[in-house]
Amino acid sequence: TETLGILGGGQLGRMLSVAASRLGYRTHIYEPGANPPAGHVADQVTTAPYEDEAALRAFAASVDVITYEFENVPTSALDLLESLKPIRPNRRALATSQDRILEKDFLNGLGIVTAPYASVTDEASLQAAIAKIGTPAILKTTRLGYDGKGQARIKEPAQAAAAWASMQGAPSVLEGFVDFTHEVSVIAARALDGSVACFDPGENVHKDGILRTTTVPAKLTPSQRSDAILIAARILNALDYVGVMGVELFVTSKGLICNEIAPRVHNSGHWTQNGCAVDQFEQHIRAVMGLPLGDGSRHSDVVMENLIGDDVLKVPAILKERHAALHLYGKGAPRPGRKMGHVNRVKP
Ligand code: ATP
Ligand code: MG
Ligand code: MG
Repeated sequence: TETLGILGGGQLGRMLSVAASRLGYRTHIYEPGANPPAGHVADQVTTAPYEDEAALRAFAASVDVITYEFENVPTSALDLLESLKPIRPNRRALATSQDRILEKDFLNGLGIVTAPYASVTDEASLQAAIAKIGTPAILKTTRLGYDGKGQARIKEPAQAAAAWASMQGAPSVLEGFVDFTHEVSVIAARALDGSVACFDPGENVHKDGILRTTTVPAKLTPSQRSDAILIAARILNALDYVGVMGVELFVTSKGLICNEIAPRVHNSGHWTQNGCAVDQFEQHIRAVMGLPLGDGSRHSDVVMENLIGDDVLKVPAILKERHAALHLYGKGAPRPGRKMGHVNRVKP
């Protein structure tokens, strides 16, 4: 039996592990934190820091292919692992998406439109960036941000100093505020042989910087839909990508603007679990294990709702709903902002 190694033991790792088991593979999770959600379903778990060279070597020796559900694995660990076993998606995809400036440079190099942006490393460069881009704008740390963390909105130039102070000296990027009508994402997959399959774009609603719901089908004209798929496919080909990627897009009257890319299965793709024969998790496993992809077609319309913090109190009511598929992550006590699970409401 082949074994898949997964770096990161959160809910994405958990759902990847379930999908891998279903295809007959073993899984081995590597996660520094204690009691990871994926630990309950994987065949094997290593709890060790990414600096533990012996643990990394033992992990690599026990697996055939390495993938990840967490983008911020230290470079030194990846260098060692890559010398021992294949890492899919590849290092370039990871490096590009880890840094918002590299990511935007890459996208613009492909002719894909992004928000206007400028690098910010101190208050003076923030002033220069505001002079160039104008307000309103958003200041974001270039690395490590997720769920809207590490961001400050700048409505007018007078707010610049406070925004820079909130970055705590971290290298940042100023982005022009995009006047979008709504947000969509494409969950796309590319196989070892270069074939690409995309799921239908989903429409995403955020609250407090965190994804709340994804609805398929998204409101898109036929040509916007083609554009979304073509943008995703161009990105995957350019990176010689293997695996599933999430591509976040803003819909504007002037066309689609790419917000960011995530080199992994994506929260906005969870609807595929109950809307498609082959969901994003199985699709990722198929890609990284060298199998043919599922075609990505949708058999049902779905609304996915994240259960964040105290939303889990709705679980008893959800269990009584018809056509509601519940997915819980086994995380224990709810905390504000913590993703505890999600529900996929399927349109019969
Ligand atoms: P994720 O959890 O998706 O990785 P993140 O922390 O990387 O989130 P972004 O996706 O960059 O953050 O931003 C979160 C949300 O903030 C976006 O989905 C969008 O609603 C809003 N936003 C971000 N950048 C812009 C922008 N330039 N213009 C307008 N709105 C924006
Ligand atoms: Mg992000
Ligand atoms: Mg995002």
